[in-house]
Amino acid sequence: MEQDFPASPLGLYIHIPFCLSRCGYCSFFSVPYRKSALNEYVDYLHKEKALYQSQLNRPLATIYFGGGTPSLLNAEQIMDLLSGLNILPKAEITLEINPLQITENYLQTLNKTPVNRLSIGVQSMNPEELNWLERQHKPEQIQEKIALCRQFGYQNISLDLIYGLPNSSVQSLQRTVEKYLTLKPEHISCYLLTLDNDCRKAKERAFLPDEEMQAEQYEFLCNCLKQEGYIHYEISNFALSGYASQHNLRYWHSDDYLALGASAAGWITPIRYQNPADLNLYYQSVDKGEAFPQREELSEQRIVQDYLMMGLRLKEGIDLDEFNNRFRFKLTALYEAKISKLQKIGMLNLTEHNLALSEKALFVSNSVIGDLIL
Ligand code: SF4
Repeated sequence: MEQDFPASPLGLYIHIPFCLSRCGYCSFFSVPYRKSALNEYVDYLHKEKALYQSQLNRPLATIYFGGGTPSLLNAEQIMDLLSGLNILPKAEITLEINPLQITENYLQTLNKTPVNRLSIGVQSMNPEELNWLERQHKPEQIQEKIALCRQFGYQNISLDLIYGLPNSSVQSLQRTVEKYLTLKPEHISCYLLTLDNDCRKAKERAFLPDEEMQAEQYEFLCNCLKQEGYIHYEISNFALSGYASQHNLRYWHSDDYLALGASAAGWITPIRYQNPADLNLYYQSVDKGEAFPQREELSEQRIVQDYLMMGLRLKEGIDLDEFNNRFRFKLTALYEAKISKLQKIGMLNLTEHNLALSEKALFVSNSVIGDLIL
């Protein structure tokens, strides 16, 4: 007799590519906000959702509204996008929110949706840095904004922080971090500023701190946040106990997630796919009823490589027993020589149960992981 296994949980990412203005350092796909354009886009998200009905019958463990600026959605649009989904009772549902959009009116309506985690794009508490980043909010507004979120019952708040800003130092970063700590966020994501060729400020690369200063700033963040009780659970992410981002953990554990919206990229084992990073092409693709656009079916070897690439970003690294169960072979046997070489130069730590980057490898993780898997 055939046995039915319960469907495994899924993550869902919904991309909202509209922004009120374009920040000069940004190279993400984003387009200027217009209400009518956002409404049309949301209609397409609904059509796209219908293309993945069989996947969306799976229980959803996490949902993430990212952007762009997803807080341009009103509560009704959020509710409509969540309607008909099989959301697990304890699902983590995150909304990235622009500080300027944290108002009593917005939170009052947002509060009626199941969104239970806010990721706030604070970036810095230094007015000159915010100015350079072309962010519209002011540092002095943040405390009041967070207090308002707390007042509306949001107990899982993540703040973004950008380091390696032009002319920054450990001291200037320290001033920002001290202000963050007074806000007591449950989670802090720290990103090193990079200026890609296609961003407006690409020519200002000369003002960025050198690699040594970037590494010092990173080291400061790691030490300081650890001292303040944050668990450094992923290269760029710090959380109080119990507040690691469940959605992002799906990426790092190579668990399945569906992605909706222009430029959004998803992973439904063994398929990687990405929607076009262009509104018209995205609309055409949805109109054609195309599921999993630009799909690539990964070989077992690529799946293992991606699993390592993502999993090694976690401080705990790769759980060797889990790897063995998933892929039916021993990781340490396949990469024995490379692991031993990287261990000798102090870049990898191998224990009976885990393979992880060493502390000093975290800032140069890409090259260490590349050395291991390529
Ligand atoms: S950094 Fe964020 S808010 Fe600024 S343009 Fe890019 S996506 Fe929009």
